[in-house]
Amino acid sequence: MPVSIGIPRTLAYYAFYPWWKTFFQEIGLEVVTSAQTSKATLDDGVEQAVNDACIPIKIFHGHVVDLKDRVDYIFIPRLVSVRKLETETFCPKFLGLPDLVRASMEGLPKMIDVRIDMAKGRLELFRICLDLGRRFGAGFWKTARAFWKSKRAMMDYDRLIQTGLNPVEALESWENSLHLVAEDNNKELTFAVLGYPYAVYDRFINIDLHKKLKSLGVKIITAEMIPPRKLLREAKKMPKNLFWHFSNKVIHATSYFIKQVKVDGIIHITAFGCGPDAMVDKMIELTAKHEGRIPFISLTIDEHTGEGGILTRLEAFVDMLKRQKGLA
Ligand code: SF4
Repeated sequence: MPVSIGIPRTLAYYAFYPWWKTFFQEIGLEVVTSAQTSKATLDDGVEQAVNDACIPIKIFHGHVVDLKDRVDYIFIPRLVSVRKLETETFCPKFLGLPDLVRASMEGLPKMIDVRIDMAKGRLELFRICLDLGRRFGAGFWKTARAFWKSKRAMMDYDRLIQTGLNPVEALESWENSLHLVAEDNNKELTFAVLGYPYAVYDRFINIDLHKKLKSLGVKIITAEMIPPRKLLREAKKMPKNLFWHFSNKVIHATSYFIKQVKVDGIIHITAFGCGPDAMVDKMIELTAKHEGRIPFISLTIDEHTGEGGILTRLEAFVDMLKRQKGLA
């Protein structure tokens, strides 16, 4: 039986899953992904994680619970940086994630907690992959081939997103070799839905917001659907960047959606207890107000969030905009 490795279906999953799934499979491991987030995942996470953790971190613990008795190894990288932007790193919870999980949970399988710090140079990821290959008995050429295949998998995934699929649809299409096409976007309104990928694309965390908005006649665009070079152009226009990778992406996307696309409204999904979002949420609100006069709503999710309350606010927001535009 091949050695198995578990990848939690949250946090960095939506950004880098094709890379790691391809890499581990190509060096001979069986990759097991945790189940979709559910109430049970949240309950398990709340039980295991420290009390003052944000909800995505609690949910991450729940995904680890789902995997821990089914795999030989669990993959929890220490994400430090993924691009060479001066001073950019990940939120401190990402930096300490392997330690947080180790300190809170018992009976874990062996943990692969490689430190990923791409600011160290262009060859850093290759060096990390060579280390991992060596650890699992793969030779240089096998590991190098796995590296290039992973790179190609990420390019395929990005290409699918650029056809108009959101990352969830793109992952489904990539993983199951499906030919999904972007929906006909003939909707009355266009909204930018902003936030961290693990909130924007996890149907449980965001209470299936995408489906609800579509049923209300709203087309959704997200930060990941902006071509990377255009996002980079927005980054260069900023007088100063924030410290955190995903936060920067949200801020750059806000600027792009206000100035280049002129969306009808902006929704920010934020998690209760998120330190960086205390600043990011205000920045989006002020940018939307002063630079584009774009209506903005912030939805805060926590473990007690009621679907009814969020839905009522969403409906009111959409209704207000339709009236403003003479559509209702
Ligand atoms: S950025 Fe916010 S929501 Fe994400 S892990 Fe850090 S504190 Fe939690």
